Amino acid sequence: MWRASHNLLPTADNLWRREILLEPTCQICKQGKETTAHTLLLCKAAKKVWRYAPFETCFPDAVNQDMLEIMVEMAKKLTKSDIEVMVAICWTIWYGRNKFLFEGKKMEPLLTISRAEAVVEAFRRVKQPTLDPEAKYSSKNQQVWSPPPDNTFKVNVDAAVNFDRQKAGLGVVIRDSSNKVKVAAVKSTLFTGDVQTAEAEAVEWGLVVAKSAAFQCIMVESDCQEVVKLINNNEGSRTEIMWVISEIQSLSKDFQNISYYHTPRSCNTHAHSLAKLALRNNETVVWLEPIPVEVESVLSSLI
Ligand SMILES: [Zn+2]
Repeated sequence: MWRASHNLLPTADNLWRREILLEPTCQICKQGKETTAHTLLLCKAAKKVWRYAPFETCFPDAVNQDMLEIMVEMAKKLTKSDIEVMVAICWTIWYGRNKFLFEGKKMEPLLTISRAEAVVEAFRRVKQPTLDPEAKYSSKNQQVWSPPPDNTFKVNVDAAVNFDRQKAGLGVVIRDSSNKVKVAAVKSTLFTGDVQTAEAEAVEWGLVVAKSAAFQCIMVESDCQEVVKLINNNEGSRTEIMWVISEIQSLSKDFQNISYYHTPRSCNTHAHSLAKLALRNNETVVWLEPIPVEVESVLSSLI
């Protein structure tokens, strides 16, 4: 953003003005000069991404406008955390454009947004580690994701909820003892009004995915302590969630070896990112190894 605000990014317009390129035209949309504002905000490729931004975007439609001025304008309208996301999205758009122009890899709007959100979350974790009460609480325990033993697969699951749209996104990531992602999966579903039920549904979806990939020995990790307790102890009275729990227990019988653990959120970030991706994406997708580069990029930007 510092480089963009100082108009230092090597856009076609900047390269043309330095007589490195013969024309300043945007190579993606071929409509107008590729200035910084065009590249990050106004190009049709950028607009496709901004459509999914988690806040209102109405950028001034002037291609020659100074990026710093635009940011100052936006800072008046958005909250500080929205600005953080906006800066990250600018960066992932720039990254995505370069990937497209130089490596021919298509920019996927939803993944571009997810990647930006993952970058912001990683940034916030580093800046404010003590604000996460769970991290503080379990500071004596493991703080990073740990791989399963040989021949066992670890299934991390998570749910993300959009209360306004009454939707839930479920994310599943299955890794082996060498920390290799074997399966990643997303599912979009209706939100029934209870977050823990959504978390239980994420566990159920994790089992369905693990079963379909023919894994026999699995460790399931959820950051919802209540759900793990319910599965392990079968205690609870609320009917709604117990339907899902009994379904989980029935599916568990299909595995040779299965165990359930509660894990801090800081160790469940991959599944969390996928759950958020699922929330935006209305599809149900299971990616088997080799995991597509765009999905890997959502996961790897967390490390
Ligand atoms: Zn363009």
